[in-house]
This record gives sequence, structure tokens and C-alpha cells, in this order.
Amino acid sequence: MTASPTKTAAWQQAAPGFARLDAEPFPVFEPGWVWLVGAGPGAPGLMSLLCYHAMQTCDVAVYDALVNPDILRWVRVGAELEYAGKRGGKPSPVQRDISLRLIELAQSGKRVLRLKGGDPFMFGRGGEESQHLAQAGVPFRIVPGITSGVGGLAYAGMPATHRDTNHSIMFLTGHDASGKMPANVNWPAVAKAAPVIVMYMAVKNLGEIAAALMDGGRSPADPVTIVSNATLPHQRIMRTTLGAAGADVAANEPPTPAIVVVGHAADWMDVLGWYRDGLKENKIG
Ligand code: SAH
Repeated sequence: MTASPTKTAAWQQAAPGFARLDAEPFPVFEPGWVWLVGAGPGAPGLMSLLCYHAMQTCDVAVYDALVNPDILRWVRVGAELEYAGKRGGKPSPVQRDISLRLIELAQSGKRVLRLKGGDPFMFGRGGEESQHLAQAGVPFRIVPGITSGVGGLAYAGMPATHRDTNHSIMFLTGHDASGKMPANVNWPAVAKAAPVIVMYMAVKNLGEIAAALMDGGRSPADPVTIVSNATLPHQRIMRTTLGAAGADVAANEPPTPAIVVVGHAADWMDVLGWYRDGLKENKIG
């Protein structure tokens, strides 16, 4: 290791705190553009600088149900806020309408911030929305965010990968467009594919999913961890096993949104679970 420098460089002294960022050449949010931006899993402190920049320069922010209201408070005064959420697990006939609304706003010359929970390309329909924008000839930028299936594990003290136990990880949705367990998933293959399986929108169908994974050869003793409201002060963790998951979920009804983690990443939680009561009081993260 090199010794730390004893002198502070001139640029380090330029301005205190976040003010220094104002001098940085952030990309210009042009009128008529849509920025599809991930706001992160919940805690406001987990958003990116580009996300914050977009919030300061947009004309309208079209946001999803999962975007924390504390984040919305940071949108520039004078920008419009428009809600375009859907309720989880329900069919979503309005998806096309949301895309049309984004196109309409952009074509009226606005700087349109499409703010989504987590990462826009992880189970957030950012793929469909940007596809519609591309078809309509609306220019756009994608700003990734910390997805709940990664950030939630960090806040639960479960390393997504670890050389001793989790050499690979798989991300999966627990329901299809109609809210049912996805039929076009090869469950026996999924059961064997990765030591850690992270599932979004999976609480409702967890009994069925667990049965499919066990049919595919996964042990009933495999740990299942349900992280509700991950990264937020009201984060809750429920620990069960594949064999007991269905009954435990029915009996305890873990709050949603929640991610479900199958696998031995859970074994680390007792030692690495760092997000505890004293720290949870800070709602920035
Ligand atoms: N684009 C989002 C996912 C949208 S799908 C992302 O990258 O995180 C919605 C699902 O995400 C929820 O049903 C839940 O499984 C998960 N989710 C989102 N925010 C969450 C949070 N704070 N805690 C736990 N799960 C969350």
C-alpha cells in the first residue's frame, strides 16, 4: 500500500460537500428527450449522481409506485410530478398508455424523467418503454440503478456472491403478466442453475415456486430469505426453508415489496447483517 498523501490537492479544497459537483460536466438533459432512470431500491442515498442531476434538470418526472416519496421531494421545484404506477401482481393494461404518455410529453418539448424503482432494465418494463420510445423516434438515455435484488441483499448482510458458497446468482420473476407463476420457465433447470436464486414479485406464488424447485432437485432444507422493504427503515427479514416457505408465507404474510432469496447466502446473515435498529433510523440509507 502506498502512503496516503499528506497534502490536500487544490481541487479537493474547491468547495465543501456536494457543492463541488456543480462544476462537473454533467450531460445536458435536452428538451424532447426521455431519461429512463433507476432510483435505486428505496433508500434515497442509493441513487446515482446522474439520477440526482436528472431530478434537478427535468421538466416532468413520471414515477412508479416503488419510488420512495422521500426521493420525489428532491425533484426540482417547478417540475411537474406525474404518477404512472401499477399495482404489483396485477395485469397491466396501462403499459402501452404509459409509453404513449412519455412520447406525448417528449414530443411537446419537455425534458421527461421516467423514474423507476431499482434498475429500469430489471423487471421494471424499461425494456418495453424504451422500445416504444425508439419506435416513435424519441431520443432517450438509460441510467441504471441499484436493483433491489442486489441492494436488498447488501442491506440484509447476504453477499450476492462469495467464493465459499455462492459462485453464481440467478435473477428471476415469480409471476408472469397475468400474476400467475411463470409457466415458460424451465423450473428443473432453474433449480440446478445457481446456488443463489433471487426472485422478484415472488411472495404470492412462493408455495408453488418452492414445490417446483424441490421437484427439480433442490433440497427442502435450502434456506429461503424474504427481505421486505429492503434498504428502508421498515426493512423486515423472514427466514424459512424451501420445504416450509409456502406455509410460512401464508401464516406470516411478509409485507411487500419483497425479494425472495433461495440459497446459502443466508448463512452469512448472522455475522454480516449490519443494518440494525440504530442505523435504520437514518432514512437516507
Ligand atoms: N426495477 C425494480 C424491480 C421492479 S419489479 C428493481 O430493479 O428493483 C417489483 C419487484 O421488485 C417487487 O415485487 C419486489 O420483488 C422488488 N422490490 C422492489 N423494491 C423493493 C424493496 N425495497 N424491497 C424488496 N423488494 C423490492
